Amino acid sequence: MKLDAKAIRYLTSEDFRVLAGVEAGSRNHEVVPTPLIVQLSGLRGGSGVHRAISNLAKTNLIAKVKNAKYDGYRLTYGGLDYLALNAHQKQKCIYSVGNQIGVGKESDIVVVAHSSGAQRILKIHRLGRISFRTVKTNRDYLRHRNTGSWMYMSRLAAMKEFAFMKALRANGFSVPEPIAQNRHTIVMSLVDAFPLRQISTVPNPAGLYSELMDMILELARFGLIHGDFNEFNILIKEEEDPTAKGKAPASSTDEVSDENLRLVPVLIDFPQMVSIDHANAEMYFDRDVNCIKRYFQRKFHFVSDVPGPFFADAKKKLLKNPGKRLDVEVEASGFSRKMARELEAYMKEVGADGEAGASKDEDEDDDEEEEEESGSESEGHVEDERPEQDTQEVDESSKKMEELRVSE
Ligand code: ADP
Ligand code: MG
Repeated sequence: MKLDAKAIRYLTSEDFRVLAGVEAGSRNHEVVPTPLIVQLSGLRGGSGVHRAISNLAKTNLIAKVKNAKYDGYRLTYGGLDYLALNAHQKQKCIYSVGNQIGVGKESDIVVVAHSSGAQRILKIHRLGRISFRTVKTNRDYLRHRNTGSWMYMSRLAAMKEFAFMKALRANGFSVPEPIAQNRHTIVMSLVDAFPLRQISTVPNPAGLYSELMDMILELARFGLIHGDFNEFNILIKEEEDPTAKGKAPASSTDEVSDENLRLVPVLIDFPQMVSIDHANAEMYFDRDVNCIKRYFQRKFHFVSDVPGPFFADAKKKLLKNPGKRLDVEVEASGFSRKMARELEAYMKEVGADGEAGASKDEDEDDDEEEEEESGSESEGHVEDERPEQDTQEVDESSKKMEELRVSE
């Protein structure tokens, strides 16, 4: 579902109160009866509320549903998006909305801007979307859940991601700066970088590899396993390396720039993060490690001489020199163990627990075929042209910012 922020400017504060009423009503009504909407909106009934309802329905922020017993409305993803955008706008966190740069399995990634002009990233969690095109068993399972579940699960994912990003950032990890969370969305700093997936060559694969393995071990030292540590979720920032200066001059300009460049990995995407005490921790840990091993071998033809790291090593390190237990800290910060369990159960059910799902497997197959077909000529090209991962559009987006002014 694409975010279309255009209509937000034409909504009145009355419209928003009615929209919030439908949201409140959907927590325990699959279809919110019209009189309840009127009541929850806190507005006196009459033509105003009904005009707002028809306005919202026309803009597809709510949808009319004819129930066996009564007619009413349900909130759409678009409606929930607008409620979140409106809140971010009121808190002066988002001033305008730009291009969508990513459509993940379970999220949309949009470039937004603060009134200062600084660009930020809005990540909209969309759990439940997958259920519509997933296997029958999942559909059966989801049928038994209330409609509020997509809303609730998406909010849980956003809360979890925000809580972990905050804890990681505060403890010196290289992650985006978390700025705000509202409903199913989070706002974070924009990292001016490409996912590792789009980087065709690195000057020193061994160095980057060991940095990534250190990151996995460091997470473990703080009680955490990322759970989806792969080439899409590691952004690679290029920074000039001050320590490289003053080294013997290299023979060609290319080498000079290579030597002075430091690749800094930035980790993103935290809804599937697990505690190192999780029952399947070892499996998740090994999967993260092997994902990087496999990728470096396939993409950069790099194989490390050092075996591991192994889960047992990580555990030992954790016991000897523990970091702050961020798994425990996050639990205490409001993202409770119960919430974590609910989200995990849901993600498992729809196969979104970080396990390389169907789409990613297909992707990898494609990649291998491409490599076989084009042989060594493909070296040095950006291989992955999935438009949703194309961060190149980031710069373009500033031209097409949509202001979020809500009329009063
Ligand atoms: P998903 O859960 O759908 O995988 P991610 O958080 O991994 O969502 O984001 C998807 C893509 O969006 C990333 O691979 C990256 O290209 C881009 N992206 C996400 N967050 C940022 C950010 N803070 N700065 C720049 N690009 C980002
Ligand atoms: Mg991702």
